[in-house]
Order: sequence, then structure tokens, then C-alpha cells
Amino acid sequence: MAFAELDLNPLLVKAATAAGYLQPTAVQQQAIPAALSGRDLLVSSQTGSGKTAAFLLPCLHRLAEKPGIGKQTRVLVLTPTRELAQQILRSAETYGQFLPGLRSIILAGGAPFGPQLRQLERRVDLIVATPGRLLDHLQRGRVDLSGLQTLVLDEADRMLDMGFTDDLDAILAKAPDARQTLLFSATLEGVVGRLAMRVTRDPLRIEVEAAPGMEVRIEQSLLFADDRSHKAKLLDSVLRDVSLSQAVVFTATKRSADEISGELRQQGHAVEALHGDMNQRERNWTLQQLRTGRVRVLVATDVAARGLDVPGITHVINFDLPRKAEDYVHRIGRTGRAGREGVAISFAAHQEKRLVRDIERYTAQTIRVGTIVGLEPKARSSMPSRPRSSAPAPRRSSGNGGTRSGWRA
Ligand code: AMP
Repeated sequence: MAFAELDLNPLLVKAATAAGYLQPTAVQQQAIPAALSGRDLLVSSQTGSGKTAAFLLPCLHRLAEKPGIGKQTRVLVLTPTRELAQQILRSAETYGQFLPGLRSIILAGGAPFGPQLRQLERRVDLIVATPGRLLDHLQRGRVDLSGLQTLVLDEADRMLDMGFTDDLDAILAKAPDARQTLLFSATLEGVVGRLAMRVTRDPLRIEVEAAPGMEVRIEQSLLFADDRSHKAKLLDSVLRDVSLSQAVVFTATKRSADEISGELRQQGHAVEALHGDMNQRERNWTLQQLRTGRVRVLVATDVAARGLDVPGITHVINFDLPRKAEDYVHRIGRTGRAGREGVAISFAAHQEKRLVRDIERYTAQTIRVGTIVGLEPKARSSMPSRPRSSAPAPRRSSGNGGTRSGWRA
């Protein structure tokens, strides 16, 4: 199927083509026509599936159909973090680049109010917001949702996880009933299912597996480490792999993100840290450095796990394993973007085998255990029993880190 067959405004098709998209992804093929017909949607789709365009393109199409009235906002996208909000705004600007007069802004927490207030003085067609900050503006009467056409809840599961339930309900109370609601989430079960029942009407449920050619192709492996200094040596070795273009190294705490980035800098790596203690300006600067390639290694806490979309990231390294299997998926999804190949290497302490097993069960994939010659763990860490899944071990491609830098599987 071609983009032109989706009955989208030709200026949006032109933008998708300019972005290098050859054809709509599976989630786009299903969600765009349904959204254009005005239906509510419940969509579960994998990370990297092209879901942002799946909701933005129909929203932009409807915005382009007729000019707005007064200062009413017609599209609101709610998302859990400011990084994701920035990503979505960038996508809206890319896809809407040929639409004349389109005004989109971000209202996210952690940023100063002044510029947001100035932006709200003019007409705004599309707002991308985090729930807390939007509610603040709503309660002060600075945002008018009475003309809202479409509400998008992006990463709804994550918003609920982060405790935004009451904020979401308060926001929904201010949105007109006669709106379209598009809910995107990794899962549609449990609390998300209950939220969906409250916020949507006769929704179409779309569950999409990774589309051919867009599936996440990430070679995953695991290195057991005796202690922190062993991990540091492993990290230095992995970062010297010539196939590594850019990497995100995940740590459990802000402090260790700072420490590790400091150590790596001393070892001569082009590195920056990214975590929640940094102000928005610092975070933006760091992400910009990464995007332009001036930074090769980003050491981050989970704050960067969602939304970070830098095509040059070839490697994700879990210096510390995430506590939740779901976060593992989001972390490794920072590489292998848009059908490219990626490498995910996790360091595990010997006592973390259970956590590894949980991750394997969640992803229904086994993670290959490897070693680096000369840096083998002293303690033995065999992983005798396999998880319930019978999924084959991830494919080993010849182009990645693995064997090249002296690994053994
Ligand atoms: P998302 O799942 O929205 O985070 O998108 C993942 C990546 O896929 C982003 O880098 C998009 O730019 C890219 N993308 C979205 N739609 C397409 C498409 N139809 N063809 C190729 N890449 C796409």
C-alpha cells in the first residue's frame, strides 16, 4: 500500500515522502483510515512501529480541512514525558511542514511558564502536553478545550504508571464529549482497559505486531559481571567496538549516570549524562549534541528510555538492568529504529538471574550470554533452565559488536 492510497491531504503525503517513508507501516495502514473516518481507536503497537505518524497524520489532515475558530485548540496529544512531547512536536512539524499556518506547541512540565504563556496568547491548533502542566494551564483558564476535535492519549499505560490518572480525569472533564479519542498504549488490558472504557466510544481495537521491514531488529546479549569495576571494564571494551556509532548507556541512578559519564570522559570518550536532575535547557543541549553526533555516548537514567529517537544509536548498553521487564523493552528500543539493526548488551550481576529470566519471559526471547576475552567473570554464571518461551535465540548478524571484539557466545 502507498501513502497516496490513504486519502490523506496531498501535502501530508508529500511530507511523508520527503521524510523518506516509502509506504505506511502496519499500524499506519490500519489506524489512519479508521481515524480519518472519525472513529475512536484503541491501538496497541510496538515501539518503533511508526505509531506517532499513525495518530499525527489523521489529526493534521483534519486540521488542514478547515481553519480554526478563535483561540480554540483542536488537537491535544497527551504524553507522559517532556522528551516524548518534544519528539512528537518535532514529528508534527515534519509532517505538517507543507501545511500553511499550522501552529503547534508543547506544554510540558519542567519548563518555565513564561514562554508557554506567550505561546498561548495566539491561536494554537495542536498542543502536545504532559498531563500535569496542561492541567495547570487549564485550571487557570489559559487553554480552551471547548472546540477540541481529537484527543490523543499516547503511551497511556505509562501515564497511568506515573500516577497521572486523576490529572487525566480532570482534563477529560474539560474536553467536549463530542470529540474523537485515539488511545495508544503498549497494553490495552487492566487499568488501561478501564481508562479506555471511560474515555472512548465504540472504539475500534487495533493490535499490530511489528510490521515487516519495520520490526525491531536488535541483537541482544548479556555479560555477567562480578562487581562495578568489572562492569566499568566491560563498558570501556564494548565502547571501543568499531561498529558502535552511538550508544546509550543506562544506569539505575542519576548519581551513577554522572559518575560513569565522568569516568568515560577521562578515558577519552565523547560522552554526556542525561537524567532528571538536569534542567530542560541542559537536557535539550545534551540531546542536540547527541543528534548532531558530537556526543557518541549518552549515559542516562530511564528518563531517556522513552521517546529518544536518534537514528545513529547503534548500541544500547544496560550498565544496570532495569527493575521492570517492560522498561527493558523501552530501553533497547532506542536502537534499531525504523528498521535499522541494533545491538543491546546488558550487564548483569550474578544474583540478577531472576530478573534476566523475567525479561526473557516478557519479551519471549532468550538473551544470549557472552563473554569478552580477558574480561570473563570470575564467578560462574550458567543459565541452565530456559524461560517458558520457545522463541529462538536472537539472530546473530555479522555486522555487529559480537564476535568482532573478541566475544564468545
Ligand atoms: P515511532 O514508532 O512513532 O516512534 O516511529 C519510529 C520511527 O519510524 C521514527 O524514526 C519514524 O520517523 C519512523 N517512521 C514512521 N513511519 C514510517 C514509515 N512509514 N516508513 C519508514 N519509517 C517510518
